[in-house]
Amino acid sequence: MAGSRYVMKFGGSCVKDGSTVRRSVKIVGDYVERGCRVVAIVSALSGVTDGILGVLGSAEKGREDEIRVFIEKLKARHENACMEAIRKEDLRKSVWEEVEREIEELGRLLSITAYLKEVTPRIRDYALSFGERLSTRIFWGSLVDQGIRAEYFTGWEAGIVTNDEFGSAKPLLGITYQEVRRRLGPLLDAGIVPAVTGFIAATPDGVITTLGRGGSDYTATIIGAALKVDEIILWKDVDGIMTADPKLVPEARPIPRMSYDEALELTYFGAKVIHPGALEPASKDSIPIRVKNFYNPSVEGTLITGVAESNTVKALAMIRDAAIILASGIGSSEALNMNIKLLDLLARIGAQVIMISQASSQANISIALPREDLKRALKAVKSEFAEDDIKVDYEEGICVIAVIGSGMRGKPGVAAKIFNAVAEEGVNIKMIAQGSSELNISFAVREEDGVKALKAVHRAFGLTLPDN
Ligand code: ASP
Ligand code: MG
Repeated sequence: MAGSRYVMKFGGSCVKDGSTVRRSVKIVGDYVERGCRVVAIVSALSGVTDGILGVLGSAEKGREDEIRVFIEKLKARHENACMEAIRKEDLRKSVWEEVEREIEELGRLLSITAYLKEVTPRIRDYALSFGERLSTRIFWGSLVDQGIRAEYFTGWEAGIVTNDEFGSAKPLLGITYQEVRRRLGPLLDAGIVPAVTGFIAATPDGVITTLGRGGSDYTATIIGAALKVDEIILWKDVDGIMTADPKLVPEARPIPRMSYDEALELTYFGAKVIHPGALEPASKDSIPIRVKNFYNPSVEGTLITGVAESNTVKALAMIRDAAIILASGIGSSEALNMNIKLLDLLARIGAQVIMISQASSQANISIALPREDLKRALKAVKSEFAEDDIKVDYEEGICVIAVIGSGMRGKPGVAAKIFNAVAEEGVNIKMIAQGSSELNISFAVREEDGVKALKAVHRAFGLTLPDN
């Protein structure tokens, strides 16, 4: 443990207010005391990002009174956080002055925006960047307050450079790794904790960008990979990544170990465990990621590495509010053509395809997609195929369940077990697909059957048992 190097991310309920900030800082302190090196990545205080998005809506409508109320509330919340997180008066005062100055800058930006009544993606990212700038300064103050040597960095000051896809910018990894190493490496070696804003970065020209919602995870893995740390710890308010959503399956339990691929598969199916892009930098350099509970730090959590253990099925995910489009043509010679046209069309209109299944003998294909995309998709499909002899049907009120685990690769009987379990509940399956990687089997059922089916599969694979 001593001498180990970590990147730790504190987000969501770990940075709700001053006392949670203090507690997060205490965790950092515990590692530092044991001789570890730590980089801390900090998210905005919980709800602040959503709040800024909301007030940008007000700005777009020119509602200056709403902006004033927002700014006052933001000040009060961060001032309270400062009071609680930082005990030493002088330090608190100087941190608060910086924080207040930045909140006023945000206020001016919002006023200008209200005047123009226009929010561009570039302005949005700039405004959103304040959430992390404010929280991380307070976090830094609290580190220093608790006697930990620390230095404050924005994402760009830490060296993260991205392209200009505002809203979900992609890091330019070559230059980023080089800069992060140059700027943070020596501090880490000297036992100083860099406190870095999550989520935000800048283009090579210095224009502020964001890495997409939940992007602090991404910041953590980028910095972790650049510095080749021993482990990236994502502190959350759960005991790890769960076998299923515990709100739906109360018997769900944390998964001790999983592979990057399995975690990626889970995020694809909507489990908000980790930012999807975040897995890549870590997996490329084989840096382990651990998801740990901030309220329960002695619990091991979930360790994500390149190694897949042999358990057949590890986790279940469920996408609700889906729909199915069924298209069928006449001659089978048309099948391939129709399928290609259809998928291309859905991609063009930006409809998300959750799963596809196609029977070989006939020209018919089923596509599951989010219900919110259904109307648009149907309209486009009908007009595209108006000339052709193709029948288009749909079904609403669908949910898709994904059964995930790399141990199912090449193992017979997994599908049988899933579908038996579902059949025993008297649930009818609408659609089935298996990923080519054999990492997941997904199926669609009626919305009202979803939880029943989910529980049945969870039970059938013994995911409920403590040492499955
Ligand atoms: N504050 C950002 C968000 O809410 C980033 C993060 O929390 O990771 O999406
Ligand atoms: Mg957040």
